[in-house]
Amino acid sequence: MDYSDWVESNGRVWLHDSMTALGQFAYVNPIMRAHHWYNGKKKRCYKNDYEKCFSCEKGVPSQLDYTYGIFTASKDKTIRYLSTNLSTHNTIQRSFAQLFEENVNPCSILYEIHRGKVKTATGREVKGYNITGLIDIEDGVGINARPAFIEEVDRPSPFPEDAKWVVPRMIADGLLDKDGHEFDLISLFLVMKERFPSYADSELKQFCIRLINNGTLDLRRAVENAWEI
Ligand SMILES: [Zn+2]
Repeated sequence: MDYSDWVESNGRVWLHDSMTALGQFAYVNPIMRAHHWYNGKKKRCYKNDYEKCFSCEKGVPSQLDYTYGIFTASKDKTIRYLSTNLSTHNTIQRSFAQLFEENVNPCSILYEIHRGKVKTATGREVKGYNITGLIDIEDGVGINARPAFIEEVDRPSPFPEDAKWVVPRMIADGLLDKDGHEFDLISLFLVMKERFPSYADSELKQFCIRLINNGTLDLRRAVENAWEI
């Protein structure tokens, strides 16, 4: 199959209708941001824990955007950003959940990413992206159908340079191999207790609560707010 090149501008990538390109997800969880629409133009919503957004105050409806970091070429460690809607986000997360069940890290394989129609939760069709993981599962073992763009050891640190740490950096670094894996509070707590015995149980529990995002370990949450709305 022939693949298209991504359309790219300012670090963002997208595809036009019916195009298919290859990509590898850098993280399992997207960055979520709210937007308002003004006369057909998208404007960032600035609401956060401390401030209210002018548009929110005025009652302009907002919409969430799910932006995934992806690698788009072999050996190129630059993360590009693919903005998706809720239906695409749900499609991607369903595919990731199936891979987790097979014990495959969704960030370790390539995907065919196709711009077309996706189904909403109510069965309507909207524009979006469908993804197909290029992996064969044989006897419970995943075999990459094509080599990944970036091997696990080469993947960049998810932490910004000037991060303000909410969870100690040593703990975040010490859990990098588990980033993006499925966890409930108890199973993550047990891993942390074994790896970081010098911390009190009560502290480790607080870190677990902070780091679990929708049933997966999300180490970006080890630093303050940078990745949230
Ligand atoms: Zn707003």
